[in-house]
Amino acid sequence: MSTVTRFAPSPTGTLHVGNVRTALQNWLLAKKHGGRFLLRIDDTDAERSKEEYVEAIRADLAWLGLVPDGEERQSARFDLYEREFARLCEEGRVYRCYESAQELELKRKVLLGRGLPPIYDRAALALTESDHAAKWAGGERPHWRFLLDHDSPIAWTDGIRGPQHFDARQMSDPVVRRADDSWLYMLPSVIDDVAMGVTDVLRGEDHVSNTAVQLQMFAALGAPAPNFSHAALLVGTEGKLSKRLGSLGMAELREAGIEPEALIALLARLGTSDPVDPALDAETLAGSFDLSHFGRAPARFDEVELQRINAAIVHGLPFARVAHLLPEGMSEAGWDAVRPNLAHIGEAGEWWQIVTGSVATPAFDGETKGYLELAADTLAAVQWSDGVWQELTGELKQATGRKGKLLFLPLRQALTGRDHGPDMAALLPLIGREAAVERLRLAATA
Ligand code: GLU
Repeated sequence: MSTVTRFAPSPTGTLHVGNVRTALQNWLLAKKHGGRFLLRIDDTDAERSKEEYVEAIRADLAWLGLVPDGEERQSARFDLYEREFARLCEEGRVYRCYESAQELELKRKVLLGRGLPPIYDRAALALTESDHAAKWAGGERPHWRFLLDHDSPIAWTDGIRGPQHFDARQMSDPVVRRADDSWLYMLPSVIDDVAMGVTDVLRGEDHVSNTAVQLQMFAALGAPAPNFSHAALLVGTEGKLSKRLGSLGMAELREAGIEPEALIALLARLGTSDPVDPALDAETLAGSFDLSHFGRAPARFDEVELQRINAAIVHGLPFARVAHLLPEGMSEAGWDAVRPNLAHIGEAGEWWQIVTGSVATPAFDGETKGYLELAADTLAAVQWSDGVWQELTGELKQATGRKGKLLFLPLRQALTGRDHGPDMAALLPLIGREAAVERLRLAATA
């Protein structure tokens, strides 16, 4: 059976780092096994779901290169849910309840007060058909609970957490449908996982107890359950599930110049025993993806690490990948010259401006001005080639006895207006003789 995974976001907001990680893990798992990765839009909540979020989710996945092999929307599948629900009704696996939120809260408090777990007491199961009819006549509408099977033990071998056991008696029958007929997440998800042939559900460990319930739903629907795996959650560097992490979206990362490759390289390995390696692309990461390498400890997401990986990735990006993002006229040689110095692609523009535009000339002391005047003369006379920087500095070294910083720094400062930057041997040919000589003279006379 070929692997089918799904990423099932609710379009009630944009994706943040945590759910992008889940999407990526599902993509990697599917690709590793040559399977399919599905996008399922969990939009049963008509009020909170927004079309703009659906579009943003698609766009973010596309930006990351996590292209789904199929897309489904829960809002288009209500007929199926009705049919399956009717079946569960007939079989007595869902039942009608009327308790208000306040009543339920009171029941909880009483149980907790007695030192008992706050489990729903199934009082509504005792209602007769005439009780229901009377309530209906009085305008009351039921919400529905799924009847857990107290006699069948709940157990699965989690792909990450290992053997898991739950006792249905220690759990409340979950509400699956509200009084206004709208669906809660739990049951439609299982119906869809069955209908879409999902073989592997990989999600955050905040879903572990949902899995316990959902396993009974698979059984009630007469379907085999997929493999379940629950990854430890992401935490920020301060060790907590930080607010920032919960809201750190792709737009913000894009704006900060983070490349999708960097996010993929980091998130694919975070929480596993495998090292983060900026040199690995998504396909390679898929090949080495292994659930057994995941640990149980929370995975620490460090923005500084992301920036470091991003820089490493930018340094290796070929011209063809970035050409459309570069300033007009910036050549491949230009890109190759500046990329080892960039934290993000956007900085290339500044350097191209330095190469082709004018630079702010720093103030030099008299002796240095003399040195720069000599440099201008030397450069004007030197044989122009790709090796012109070596040529120039070689001659200046001989003529002045300067070396190291004294030899190089004034030249760099006069030619670029900066103390640091890309290799001058690569920059000088791009600046060109005329502009370079002019900059040196300007610095010598300013
Ligand atoms: N829509 C659910 C969520 O975002 C999906 C959970 C699941 O993967 O089953 O939490």
